Amino acid sequence: MEVERYLSQVAVREIFPSGQKIIESSSIVVVGMGGTGSAIAEMMARMGIRKITIVDDDTIEVSNLNRQALYKENDIGLKKVDVAKVELLKINNDVEVNAIDQRLTHYNAEEILSEGDIILDGTDNYNARGVMNGASFKLKKPWIFTAVEGTVGYVKAIIPGKTSCLSCFGYPDQGEGISCTVQGVIPSAVRAISSLAVTVALKVLMERESSGDLVYMDVWKPTLETLPIPRNEGCKVCGENKFARG
Ligand SMILES: [Zn+2]
Repeated sequence: MEVERYLSQVAVREIFPSGQKIIESSSIVVVGMGGTGSAIAEMMARMGIRKITIVDDDTIEVSNLNRQALYKENDIGLKKVDVAKVELLKINNDVEVNAIDQRLTHYNAEEILSEGDIILDGTDNYNARGVMNGASFKLKKPWIFTAVEGTVGYVKAIIPGKTSCLSCFGYPDQGEGISCTVQGVIPSAVRAISSLAVTVALKVLMERESSGDLVYMDVWKPTLETLPIPRNEGCKVCGENKFARG
């Protein structure tokens, strides 16, 4: 790796050469390559992550272009993962990019998610997040939940065995959710939440995050809050009592 490329981030005390070494030896899986996922993948590629696996079965539409970092007008109609892979390699050819043209389901999740040291949520629906939550617990791999709606968004680290999971606080694990074009989302909120998600992911990789607090951000007001989410003994995914409950 070229040292010069990463000078500005290595100069930050929170990263330093030791953190950069971890970045350059880590792999991530980004599920969903919409606004959040493409911004996360772009930042991680620029920072020199070793390997990125991107997962999405969508094609690029004109309504994606206001917020989805890697796509341009002449990409309309093409597969998101194909375009994203080309663009990520243009940004940093040292990164290994693994493009998977599939939707994440209960059937393929464990195989796909085992490709990464950490999983980042770039999806917009409850089904995919439920799949990630269950599979990451089984695989004992951390994942970063993200959601954006209007001017607000959420980020939470979920580290099996350490933090609460998505089901601990009753987050729905099924349903398509409402698409961005219907419920509305401001591109600056997407970027802000993507930036927070990347930061939290780096902290998990460097073993400096274990609280699993839910971070809530409104870019319009603006406000940023962290809400502690305790583990739930009775959680059907990660709770101590889940086997007894059948
Ligand atoms: Zn749980």
